[in-house]
Amino acid sequence: MEVLSACDVHKSYGANEVVCGVSFAIEAGECFGLLGPNGAGKTTTLRLCLGLIDPDRGRITLGGSPIPQQARQARLRVGVVPQMDNLDPDFTVEENLLVYGRYFGLRERAIRQRIPALLEFAGLAGRARTRIQTLSGGMKRRLTLARSLVNDPDIVFMDEPTTGLDPQARHLIWERLRELLAQRKTIVLTTHFMEEAERLCGRLLILDRGRIIAQGSPRELIAHHIEPDVVEVYGDGVSGWAERAAGLALRLEKTGETVFCYADDPRALLAALESEHGLRYLHRPANLEDVFLKLTGRELRD
Ligand code: ADP
Repeated sequence: MEVLSACDVHKSYGANEVVCGVSFAIEAGECFGLLGPNGAGKTTTLRLCLGLIDPDRGRITLGGSPIPQQARQARLRVGVVPQMDNLDPDFTVEENLLVYGRYFGLRERAIRQRIPALLEFAGLAGRARTRIQTLSGGMKRRLTLARSLVNDPDIVFMDEPTTGLDPQARHLIWERLRELLAQRKTIVLTTHFMEEAERLCGRLLILDRGRIIAQGSPRELIAHHIEPDVVEVYGDGVSGWAERAAGLALRLEKTGETVFCYADDPRALLAALESEHGLRYLHRPANLEDVFLKLTGRELRD
């Protein structure tokens, strides 16, 4: 069953077209990722899908309802984890959940009944009366996740759910997202962490300058767009070595003092590195980050 679809969606701000003909369809129970450098149009795409802004062109359907015409109704079955935590700092944990639940027309009793399970899920059991100011960044993020579930949504939109978290907090969120997927909830995720997308997303698309430049499962994208082996080489004289080694790898990319070597068969390259005593190297399988950097480039986007 399709829970979200976008067909040839366009959105401009003034002369700047920030979403340029984006199409995709997401099935129930999928974890679908939107990746892209800063300014690629990820957040705008999410906001269009939620009916928070209107497209200039194109069709969007969320939970069977046309967007933006029936956005209000569709959003009753949707949870949102925004990029910035927007918890009310003057309220307690419990009060934040109550206020949020009321937006969905839920009765106070019904919300109160759900609160212990939500807090347990978020690793915040016993914190109902804690004030927001005293929570750590990780706790706030988990509370925002719990809050997005207050209406027991079918589909949860998450805009960079783990940005700013330490590895422990990030792993805990990943664990929880896997539990949601096991409950057949659908997740639409934007992230800058390729490792996060690789671990969680069944399918993803890479956006750049408002356009889809690649899509598929992480494994498909890696197999399709990049050589299977990567050797990262560092150390004094790496530039000179890279010139001598050009024939040993299919592709060499130099950034700063690191050379990334992409190869179908890295044996000759590794053998050559054995005798280079000034250089250090790391041999690893290609990953989604390699694909991302190949397709979107290595220059900074602000
Ligand atoms: P991403 O989430 O991929 O970083 P965004 O969707 O936030 O990208 O932004 C895409 C582009 O649209 C950016 O160039 C941004 O400056 C522009 N943009 C987003 N929202 C607005 C707005 N309300 N008014 C004008 N420009 C906007």
